[in-house]
Amino acid sequence: MKSAWSEHDAQAIVDRYAQQGIGPDLALRIYSTRLLGSEPGLVLHGGGNTSIKALTTDLLGEVTEVVCVKASGGDMATLDEMRLPALRLDRLHKLRTRDSLPDEDMPLVLRDALIDPMAPNPSVETLLHAFLPHKFIDHTHANAVLSLTDQEDSDLFCVDVYGSRMGIVPYIMPGFSLAVRTAAIYELKPKVEGLILQKHGIVTFGSSARESYERMIEMVSLAEDRLAKNRKAVFVPAPIPGPVARLAEIAPILRGIVSVKDERLEGAWRRPILDFRTGPAILNFVNGTELARYAQAGVVTPDHVIRTKIWPLILAVPDQGRPVEFKRNTQKAVTTFIEYYKSYFARHNVRVGGDRKMIDPQPRVVLVPGVGLFGLGRNSHDAMIAADIATSAIETITDAEAVGRYVSISEAEMFDMEYWPQEQAKLIDAQAAHDKPLTGQVAVIALAAASKRTISFLVSILTNIVPVPSATGNSGLPESAMVATTLRSAVSITVALLLRPLKAHTVFVLGSNTMPSGLVPAGMEATVARDFRSNTTTAFAPPSLT
Ligand SMILES: [Zn+2]
Repeated sequence: MKSAWSEHDAQAIVDRYAQQGIGPDLALRIYSTRLLGSEPGLVLHGGGNTSIKALTTDLLGEVTEVVCVKASGGDMATLDEMRLPALRLDRLHKLRTRDSLPDEDMPLVLRDALIDPMAPNPSVETLLHAFLPHKFIDHTHANAVLSLTDQEDSDLFCVDVYGSRMGIVPYIMPGFSLAVRTAAIYELKPKVEGLILQKHGIVTFGSSARESYERMIEMVSLAEDRLAKNRKAVFVPAPIPGPVARLAEIAPILRGIVSVKDERLEGAWRRPILDFRTGPAILNFVNGTELARYAQAGVVTPDHVIRTKIWPLILAVPDQGRPVEFKRNTQKAVTTFIEYYKSYFARHNVRVGGDRKMIDPQPRVVLVPGVGLFGLGRNSHDAMIAADIATSAIETITDAEAVGRYVSISEAEMFDMEYWPQEQAKLIDAQAAHDKPLTGQVAVIALAAASKRTISFLVSILTNIVPVPSATGNSGLPESAMVATTLRSAVSITVALLLRPLKAHTVFVLGSNTMPSGLVPAGMEATVARDFRSNTTTAFAPPSLT
């Protein structure tokens, strides 16, 4: 991994922030956080966090020592000053003398320490940053480091690669206990340049943004160098008897089986969006004889569990031309998955006192030997995150198996993370932002002459709308819905979808007679009806697909 630090870019961001009265330290904190966030081998989708310690003036005009930490769930690649809430260090330091901090108290004490009471919630790993003394601290879930620490012999790997340069912190669930333990380990060896958090990630620190960032790159590069040495070939492929089904044959069946009735609305269904991935590395992984062992061993870092659940669903190889058999096998596999998830929940819920509420038991990642993998989500954004994380985990597990044997945290530790209220809060925020009346439905909307009002109405009920300006502009096929702005492109998208149903597995063509009238806001009926009429009375006859 190479440093992406550019003095030119760093100076430009310092100059830009200076115009807003923001000093160079904070500007460079933002710059190096974005560099870390732009490298998928380090963090994905809200993973990881960074901090800076500084002096600030509080609302009463008093100068106060603070730690500014990335906001919870925020994306490092696009961090700005608004997503770096400042917390009073003296208040956080007082917590270190305590033996424990109940889960429900954590968000309250963090909010209590905020300088700006309106600031977003700081990261769940804030105390780890607060209890270490360094001015700049960077924390990532680097794949290469995880490949070396998601091992039975992870201590040996760490000593071999880092010697005494890095402290080693055994796995503890993120939060108060991890922060206390990490600080204690650091204080025993204050000369270290960072800390390896086993089965979780890596922390580096420094007196400047550049020092902390470049230590991260160097430490991850050392892990990559080790992974390149003495590799054994993985994985041994299982025999695939005959031709494998095409994606278009299996995706709609899978989507149908994992759909569930929506209890909020009679006759409605909650359908996940599927994001499909394949390629040599994914096929090498899903085709292995020992797939069930290494793929179901658990998450590569605890943060992933809310996105992927603790195991993927594994299907049998789908034979070409045998959809009935695929449907039967998939139905059985999904039922088994859900039953196991329910028993896993019940078992661990009792252990923690029985007060947790089960989230939906549907899989988030589906592995299909011979074909590839699917990420599943309530909308295309969530499906993309699940697929990205699953693809990245495959890289991590493959490297771990190439130098040793992949081991994750225990099932109980994964449950504690999956049902940690602070982790669930990240999803609830995201869902509230995305849920719309037709979220999860895939639609091609044929509108040759839609008014702006109709378009904005559609935007209000659909989650993803990709305008397609002309018949020739269809290269990036649909996410979950498209608005064709000409009749020609509407026909062409529909045909393309039918022939190559890549990400869209159900096509609804909404015409004047299929528009769900109950969804049309009062006062807009006439506009919407006129637009739909003008599109459905022309030569284009939408195929009936519902
Ligand atoms: Zn972390």
